[in-house]
Amino acid sequence: MIETGSGMAFRYCPLCATPLRGAGQSHCPVCGYIHYRNPVSVVAGILLADGPRLPAPGRLVPPPDASHALFVRRTAKFPGTWCLPCGYIEYEEEIHAAACREFREETGLEVETVGVYAVQSNFHDPINHTVGTWFLVRYLAGALQAGDDADRAEFFPLPTPPEPLAFPTDRTVIAALTARTELRSAAGVALGKGCPLPIVNHAEARDRARLWWSRIKRRR
Ligand SMILES: [Zn+2]
Repeated sequence: MIETGSGMAFRYCPLCATPLRGAGQSHCPVCGYIHYRNPVSVVAGILLADGPRLPAPGRLVPPPDASHALFVRRTAKFPGTWCLPCGYIEYEEEIHAAACREFREETGLEVETVGVYAVQSNFHDPINHTVGTWFLVRYLAGALQAGDDADRAEFFPLPTPPEPLAFPTDRTVIAALTARTELRSAAGVALGKGCPLPIVNHAEARDRARLWWSRIKRRR
């Protein structure tokens, strides 16, 4: 059973400051505001390498060449534990940009996303459920330097990630990557070295969505 805490539950209406009524999905008796408790979006970046060092800039290291991934050791929440570089998406921030920003802040590296590897719900924090998107990223520039909420940034072999890991879902993702690597190694399947997914201009897509929304609003 998933334990649900009260840390993220509001006690007062955020619109008019009246005490909320009802448990779980509470509501405001004055202005009618309903407080929905929803998971928050988070992002993580997976930088794969064929050893304990940075790949060449622009080179994507796919399985079975990928034997290592970049991890950071946390200093803020769950200090001393390890995770893939990750963090929250800020309001009005585009999701791919958020993944690259978090990666840069925690590792010093400029990267670009090349595709979504996994999407999972995170229930490890009972008062703050999240939905995480794990992106495969490609190294572009910069020197490896832990920063922000991390004090170490190092490559570790996929089958033996650093312990303790902060998040059970990171373990699931790493296990899937490891299995994929071993499976493909065993089968002797060599993947192409290029980007496997079409590049979408996400900032442009967001601007298009805003334009669409402004037109809808004008029609109302
Ligand atoms: Zn209210």
